[in-house]
Amino acid sequence: AFRNEDGGWTCPKLPLPNNEVPQKFAHIHLLLEDWSNKVDGVVPVPRKNLIIYHDDITMTKKLGEGAFGEVWKGTLKIDGILKDCAVKKIKGQVKRAETDAFFHEAKIMSKFDHECIVKYYGQCTLISPLMAVMELASGGTVRGLLRSKKTTPIENLVHFTVCIARGMEHISSKRVIHRDLAARNCLIGDNLMGENIGFRIAPIRWLAPETLTKGIFNEKTDVWSYGVVIWEIFTACAHHPLYPKSIKDAQVDIKEIDKPHKFPKGTGPPKEILSTFESCIRSKPENRPTFRALLVELAKNVEKWKKGQQQSKRKATGNNTATQK
Ligand code: ADP
Repeated sequence: AFRNEDGGWTCPKLPLPNNEVPQKFAHIHLLLEDWSNKVDGVVPVPRKNLIIYHDDITMTKKLGEGAFGEVWKGTLKIDGILKDCAVKKIKGQVKRAETDAFFHEAKIMSKFDHECIVKYYGQCTLISPLMAVMELASGGTVRGLLRSKKTTPIENLVHFTVCIARGMEHISSKRVIHRDLAARNCLIGDNLMGENIGFRIAPIRWLAPETLTKGIFNEKTDVWSYGVVIWEIFTACAHHPLYPKSIKDAQVDIKEIDKPHKFPKGTGPPKEILSTFESCIRSKPENRPTFRALLVELAKNVEKWKKGQQQSKRKATGNNTATQK
């Protein structure tokens, strides 16, 4: 992203390295729960060519607004079975660039097959409006959940951190760069509906230093954004990521980026996850881990954390029993 004359930011169109999939404004949603084992029925298997008939879709409730148009909750009829789904409907009069972007997003989404990534069921393209049909994440966005009044147990926060790393590892293994990883793009497949965040802001606070200065996007810049998501999760999205709120987006520069990023008092992840956060936001990309390496390290550390939790629970109950005696 570079500064415009009016002080805003634009992302330059840069040539992409070999075999990296260019991604215009596709949104890949990470899903933070495994739905494939849900008991309520069959997970729809998309038709081979991914074409879905408009007649097989019923839309019931508007969920949000995206760059392409509206996102609706609906049902999809597959081989006589009705299954909940989310439908992204491209808005009215479409320009060629928008249809291109729509098909581009469809192509990218259909590459993924992972329990932590929203499943792509197919697209309705035979008549207008163009629609993309995908797995419904009825729990809303992670940002919505964390900003709501409910307190999220630390176990869930750690679970989110691991799920996002797993989804990102899958995305990077397909040589796709996300480019817009943030808590507002992580959805929850549960029944806790959070507030809907459908806005698009220039994600300055989520971008790596080399993206801000040179417009580079690659796995290591996604890893930086993942570090920012850890920040969001463990500050309940209540603090502006990395830089204090007093620093406006337009003031985020290299001087700010290079300062050490400390969690505000009373917030922050367990120490076992803090090291992952710190490795993600190293200023030199070559010093940041890949998603693969990060996931291996994180999984080990989370196991350590869980053992520690169990031990302190045991100690606490032991003490209680001792006091009772
Ligand atoms: P775009 O990428 O076109 O800007 P998004 O994909 O971010 O739009 O969708 C806009 C909003 O719609 C999201 O913030 C979310 O609230 C909702 N949404 C998108 N996909 C789903 C889904 N699969 N399940 C539930 N809600 C969704």
